[in-house]
Amino acid sequence: MATASQPAQLAPAPAHLSSLDPSNGEVIAQFEITPAGEVAGIVERARRAQSTWARVPLAERCAKVARVREVLYARRQEIAELVTREAGKPRVESLFAEVLVALDICAFYATNAARMLRSERVPHHNLAMKSKSGRLFYEPFGVIGVISPWNYPLAVPMGTVVPALVAGNTVVLKPSELTPWCGSLVAELFQQAGFPHDLLQVIQGGGEIGAALIAARPDKVVFTGSVETGRRVAAACAEKLIPSVLELGGKDAMLVLASADQDIASSAAVWGSFTNCGQACLSVERIYVERGVADKFIQMCVEKTKRLKLGSPLDPETEVGTMIRPTQVDRVTAQLDDAVARGARILTGGRRRPDLGPAYFEPTVVTGVTPDMKLMQEETFGPVLAVAVVDSAAEAVRLANDSEFGLSASVWTGDARQGREIAAQLRAGSVMVNDVASYFGICEAPHGGRGASGWGRTHSRAGLLELVQAKYVDVDLLPRWSKAWWYGYNQSLAVAADHFLQFLFAQGIVERLKGAPGAMRSLFRDSKI
Ligand code: NAD
Repeated sequence: MATASQPAQLAPAPAHLSSLDPSNGEVIAQFEITPAGEVAGIVERARRAQSTWARVPLAERCAKVARVREVLYARRQEIAELVTREAGKPRVESLFAEVLVALDICAFYATNAARMLRSERVPHHNLAMKSKSGRLFYEPFGVIGVISPWNYPLAVPMGTVVPALVAGNTVVLKPSELTPWCGSLVAELFQQAGFPHDLLQVIQGGGEIGAALIAARPDKVVFTGSVETGRRVAAACAEKLIPSVLELGGKDAMLVLASADQDIASSAAVWGSFTNCGQACLSVERIYVERGVADKFIQMCVEKTKRLKLGSPLDPETEVGTMIRPTQVDRVTAQLDDAVARGARILTGGRRRPDLGPAYFEPTVVTGVTPDMKLMQEETFGPVLAVAVVDSAAEAVRLANDSEFGLSASVWTGDARQGREIAAQLRAGSVMVNDVASYFGICEAPHGGRGASGWGRTHSRAGLLELVQAKYVDVDLLPRWSKAWWYGYNQSLAVAADHFLQFLFAQGIVERLKGAPGAMRSLFRDSKI
């Protein structure tokens, strides 16, 4: 399907999706758009394949995922280059934040999924239920529909595809229309590792194909993308009662307290704001710095930002690459214009760089920002470091929590205890003390948000459990005994039932024991043995 070729040789056809190099806008490959009418059949194929796949022993499924890791590792340089070309991020970022994360996800689930999905005995605390043996089993949902964004076109889909398959589901993946090549690569990796085609199918196209996927009734949808689309996805899933995980946008706050190492904190602020050109759900979007250290911190941020090398993502020295599309730059400039009109000051950057390519924007530091500005309310998703000065840690917490989003946040402090205390007060799915965003690379850490940042979790055991259904199985150990609560109601059973409640719940041991004889009568009234 992929035809990587020179721009001049390609004639765009309506049924094809063009993969563009965002650094110059040139077509680098084309992909057939999946006809919407075929999506239901694709989901049906996935459903048929799933019943066979679910019977493959878990250990074998894990071993197959370990093989994906080997394939990915062997192709890591080529894949990093592809991600860099299609998503416009520097090569180091493709290696660290995409390939490494994807490799580690394979390694983590291949090694740990069997333990995480093992059935569990469920002991019963209630005396009346002691004669039963309960167990919890984790069964696959069936077909998981995965809809992913362009900003981490390898790491994000792999974060769900791998655990979904390990758990015995099959997957239909709809990658972003802006990164179709990376999407098709995900399926290619699994096929190269020996997975039959129908276990992981990729469908290509825009929002209408994502909508067609939901309409085809997969058994669960894992959506990663914007709040706006997330609302539509949630509504479409609700209509069909399809459970969903929504990984949406963020407005992550960074709280820089006076006790923090300002040199380290400013380096983190600069990296956290500009990595992937700020187009990361976990990027630092708002900084609240305590007044006593604000001047020094801001000055360091400005100096470090000025030193960043903006350029071609393929150049290994480039630190900030291109944004994905000129329209994304428009959104950033609109927010900056609004902020400046309301009194914010741009200390460095703030300009488009058409001399470098159609979607380049300079890393920008802006101060004097206030909560009424769009820059402090809406997800910016661009290379902007916005700093507000606060009088206390308490004010920083209040402002950080004053947002509809709740994905992640970071606290910078010289006192780890204070960091933990503040973390407890922040309304976010994750909080890092003295680091930003790197928890996305910690496979044991659940990833997900609160409020407008969505619901459900990916990564970790929590993310794996999103992809299975808990089934409780109970075996009665006294199968020839009828139960106290069955029919045959009369006054003496009512009295015995009350004694039973007394035996279980009365205050004090003496009171409880008074109920014991009646309780026993109620339990054993109809014993057939
Ligand atoms: P987007 O919402 O525009 O698109 C995401 C995906 O949804 C794409 O594949 C798109 O084709 C599809 N889609 C569009 N309309 C649809 C519909 N009606 N039904 C079904 N699918 C539909 O988002 P984007 O611009 O690709 O990605 C950027 C956004 O993703 C940012 O807001 C970012 O914060 C968020 N994001 C969140 C996380 C996270 O883990 N929380 C991770 C990465 C990105």
